[in-house]
Amino acid sequence: MMTMDRIEQGLACFRDDLRATHAYAVQPSAGLVKLDVMENPFRLPADLQRRLGERLGAVAINRYPAERTADLAAALAAHAGMPAGCAITLGNGSDELITMLSMACGRPGATVLSPMPSFVMYEISARYQGLKFVGVPLREDFELDGPAMLAAIAEHRPALIYLSYPNNPTGNLWDAALIEQIVEAAPGLVVMDEAYQPFAAAHSMPLLERHPHVLVMRTMSKFGLAGVRIGYLIGREALIAEVDKVRPPFNIGVLNAEAGLFALEHAEVYAAQAAELRAQREAVFAALQAMPGVKPYPSQGNMILLRVADAARTFAGMKARGVLIKNSSAAHPSLANCLRITIGTAEENAAMLAALKESLS
Ligand code: PMP
Repeated sequence: MMTMDRIEQGLACFRDDLRATHAYAVQPSAGLVKLDVMENPFRLPADLQRRLGERLGAVAINRYPAERTADLAAALAAHAGMPAGCAITLGNGSDELITMLSMACGRPGATVLSPMPSFVMYEISARYQGLKFVGVPLREDFELDGPAMLAAIAEHRPALIYLSYPNNPTGNLWDAALIEQIVEAAPGLVVMDEAYQPFAAAHSMPLLERHPHVLVMRTMSKFGLAGVRIGYLIGREALIAEVDKVRPPFNIGVLNAEAGLFALEHAEVYAAQAAELRAQREAVFAALQAMPGVKPYPSQGNMILLRVADAARTFAGMKARGVLIKNSSAAHPSLANCLRITIGTAEENAAMLAALKESLS
């Protein structure tokens, strides 16, 4: 058989729905001020970076990960203030936890529900695992639409509800009373995705304590370890035990576990970085509010969503001036002409604001 025929034969094995989609897109960023994916712009101070190198240099990489992963899980549980009666499981980023949840809850006909727009992986992961996905539009001010959420929950009886708290890309924390109502009405699990918790004024551990069907998902990515890929999920022991069954064995590499532990030993360094980013966020928000032709939305994350007259043009203008942000316009109709900027260092933010101003007209 010809090579091409053999490739066709291979392609025919893949699912039609998969072949009709694109892989998760990562924008090329070389040489640009990188404010596109909510990374922490700060590295470790040089002396800590050197000590991390020494720690990693001593790790036995000939063995599969074992105790150090358990040590990391325990350290994260302590860091997060895990309530009594709960357990924790780790993912290779919270992306992997989302995949694990879809797999674990993927009974025939099962549904995943989240407000829209929100983090895209809830839908992508649900679809890839054969679950139905229901997206409930947010209100125009990006608050949860309480009646619409409750109606959708009653109609679709979702196994999993995701609430990104704060929400990506809109940056806001939703109304606590509405969340409580949604949690009360949920017939399955409610996952509070707290990827942006280091920058937010509220979190969901008290909700988890009150409601045993709530899970709290967090990540070390926005904390300052996006390259290390560690996410964690906390919930009642019996629930976490089920999710843990679909976790790929040894999903956290030994070097990653060691780096995560090292970071938690220096949590005060990261706390100071987060505080600086929160202050920068407020300064950037004020500057955006004062800029004609820009409507910024208040944020509790390390990003700000803003609306301009022509997002494609502004995005291209900023890129031409060396600043990479995210054009969120295509993600959802309610995000028409919306751009999402990540909060960077003071210098990066100044460069971003200058490039934005010049790219508006
Ligand atoms: N949840 C939310 C709300 C996010 O915005 C992101 C990434 N942008 C993630 C989860 C995934 O993060 P990670 O896989 O790096 O932990």
